[in-house]
Amino acid sequence: MVKNNEFVKFDNVDKSYDGKVLVVKGLKLDIAEGEFVTMLGPSGSGKTTCLMMLAGFETPTNGEIYLDGNAISNIPPHKRGIGMVFQNYALFPHMTVYENLAFPLRVRKIPKDEVDKKIDKALSMVALQGFETRMPMQLSGGQQQRVAVARSLVFDPQVVLMDEPLGALDKNLRESMQYEIKHIHESIGVTVVYVTHDQTEALTMSSRIAVFNDGKVQQLSSPDELYERPVNSFVAEFIGENNTFEGTVSDIAGDSCKVKLTNGIEILANPIFVKTKGEKTIVSLRPERALINPKDKMDNNHKGKIEEVIYHGDHTRVRINLLGNDQFILKIPNSTSNLDIKLGNDINVGWNSKDSRALDPK
Ligand code: ADP
Ligand code: MG
Repeated sequence: MVKNNEFVKFDNVDKSYDGKVLVVKGLKLDIAEGEFVTMLGPSGSGKTTCLMMLAGFETPTNGEIYLDGNAISNIPPHKRGIGMVFQNYALFPHMTVYENLAFPLRVRKIPKDEVDKKIDKALSMVALQGFETRMPMQLSGGQQQRVAVARSLVFDPQVVLMDEPLGALDKNLRESMQYEIKHIHESIGVTVVYVTHDQTEALTMSSRIAVFNDGKVQQLSSPDELYERPVNSFVAEFIGENNTFEGTVSDIAGDSCKVKLTNGIEILANPIFVKTKGEKTIVSLRPERALINPKDKMDNNHKGKIEEVIYHGDHTRVRINLLGNDQFILKIPNSTSNLDIKLGNDINVGWNSKDSRALDPK
């Protein structure tokens, strides 16, 4: 079977609730069959609105959404073959686990003899066989969310939507549920569209991540691509930790440019956003891409002073005053020898220009 790369397709979708402000702007997003795509972004950036339109509870103001090649605007929610798990889309409190799972099957008029088989299969996916007669209030928060996941899968949907499904759980449980949902996805291959504002969750779970800000997708990439090669300052700031230098392009040729900082010092950078001399830019550098007193020559090498050293178990976090930025962060794995890393030490900081990305000035 040929995989459909446009299994879910947002085709130039706008959404306005009040007829004035667009909260989703020109959304173009193709999701492949079997993919796990996460919409990641700050609160209010339009993620839930997109899921609601896909589920059929909201209508696009402009544009169209396609599911497996069919425009879905005129198909009611329960006929779209979409399962849902929402943080606030709780289980029916007055129904047993079994009845909660039977509900979506009855709505879809699944024959009685298949109902038990499907419920059994769905409960085994979330390791809750034997819980059929429990009421939701007799389950822990994690177990309730696992039932909600089972309920979203029980009728073999084409697509499952999950909107911050782990938001109410504590950190350890949230992390183990992330792997659990990821493994369920891997084993059954259903298409998942997941929403979170938690970057770690998105990086852990997704095949691709669409970073939302202000109703627009800023970047759609695999987790590693997003972290290693953010296309703009928003993404660089939102995903992971980021050191920045503001300046103006003083020279540019091919895949390298010089950026003159406000203090007059020049650094070498990778011109991602900038094209010409004189443009303003913010240079972005990940904390683990810089080295203290590097043995080999690196094309950026500048003197700095260690302002703070914090031990983090697997790595040490060092704050450095560098080129007028006293919030420059560097991370060093604790397996390396850290002889030079003492508070107040004068050190050299080196990095390669390909790792300092000259992005938009915002
Ligand atoms: P997110 O899920 O990323 O936090 P939402 O899609 O919930 O963002 O919201 C996007 C914007 O739309 C916000 O400004 C929010 O206030 C507004 N909004 C969301 N739902 C409604 C609604 N039902 N009526 C009016 N405005 C809404
Ligand atoms: Mg939301």
